[in-house]
Amino acid sequence: MNTQSPAHRASNLLPTGHPTSNIQHPTSNIQYPTSNTLIQMRQIVKTFRSAAGEFTALKGINADFHRGEFVSVVGRSGSGKSTLVNMLTGIDRPTSGEVKIGDTYVHRLSESNMAKWRGRNLGIVFQFYQLLPMLSLLENVMLPMDFCEMYAPNERQARAIKLLQLVGLGQVVRAMPAAVSGGQQQSAAIARALANDPPIIVADEPTGNLGSRAAGTVMQIFDSLVQQGKTIVMVTHDTGLAQRASRTLLLADGEIVSQTIASALPLLTHQQMLQATHNQQPRQFEPGATIIRQGDTGDYFYIITRGYVDVTLQQAAGREITVTRLGPGQYFGEVALLCGGRTIANVKAAPQTPVKVVILEREIFTGLMDQAQAARQAMTRVARDRLAENAALGGPAEKENNCYA
Ligand code: ADP
Ligand code: MG
Repeated sequence: MNTQSPAHRASNLLPTGHPTSNIQHPTSNIQYPTSNTLIQMRQIVKTFRSAAGEFTALKGINADFHRGEFVSVVGRSGSGKSTLVNMLTGIDRPTSGEVKIGDTYVHRLSESNMAKWRGRNLGIVFQFYQLLPMLSLLENVMLPMDFCEMYAPNERQARAIKLLQLVGLGQVVRAMPAAVSGGQQQSAAIARALANDPPIIVADEPTGNLGSRAAGTVMQIFDSLVQQGKTIVMVTHDTGLAQRASRTLLLADGEIVSQTIASALPLLTHQQMLQATHNQQPRQFEPGATIIRQGDTGDYFYIITRGYVDVTLQQAAGREITVTRLGPGQYFGEVALLCGGRTIANVKAAPQTPVKVVILEREIFTGLMDQAQAARQAMTRVARDRLAENAALGGPAEKENNCYA
């Protein structure tokens, strides 16, 4: 059976409460909406125009980020990650669509209001730290407080020192950036990002220039910030680090790939995942409803997004036995599509709760499998195992050689 880990860590994520921090900030920066949605991106299109022509880097992004979430943004180079986070920070503006953070429509702010708003509400961390080289670490961290006139002037230094201690730089607060390691510079950049106690941290490849040890330190700092209730959006190339987030947003060609598809079919290329994303159809089944009847022609590939299904077998004697239960992130229907065209078991929504799935039509599914040899082989192995398991339990003894590999 499908042993993918449950695809939906995100749906299990309970947003934490109101952001709290060990350091109080004098004014509340953001009016929080009553729901836990803190950031909304709606129909974001970004087209760059240059002498070479037009290039659309974001093609209609819809995304919500919840308070207290740690979201990683992944995808190949050029897929639009930086462009996306630049829409959040207001570093760049969408060609069309809306970005709303708290009650603020970010893209509508004037340049001068933008800078103040950003300084109070967002901590931004870049790949190359971007500390001011002629200022000490301490002065770098004090800068955002000075700029936004946050905290009393005579409190700012103590606060900056406290933040530098928090990121492990208590011993080098007066050092110049060039005198410390890259990892320390990035830690200082994080302290600077925290200067005004913003509810949101946006980081674009924050570990991209660091060794694994320094990257680990940065991730530990992020973990503790999330525990304090901060919301973090982090672009990363590193799949290991991406998995430490509570949710991953995968970009391909300026679009968001369905998390359901990406988890269930990890061996597809990102382009193929995007194709599946475009063609997936949601379906819902009432508790106990039959989804697939043993022996029917299989017309769809199913991925469970919510609830559970029971897989049952009609044995020769007419008895029906339950083989297994599948849940979110797991799939079914592949055997008929890959091995001979008939379904080998009944699949029913489990009693009590409705089941939500997404389906791919046979043609779409087999088209993808034709293009993606590794995915097809992996899926065929699963199908063969399920056939063998069912045959051993008295189900239809299909010819395994039929499985298309
Ligand atoms: P990523 O961060 O995922 O590597 P980017 O968001 O930086 O990707 O870029 C997405 C696409 O948009 C790339 O093809 C890039 O060349 C293009 N792009 C980004 N910024 C500009 C710009 N200022 N002008 C023209 N094209 C751009
Ligand atoms: Mg980038």
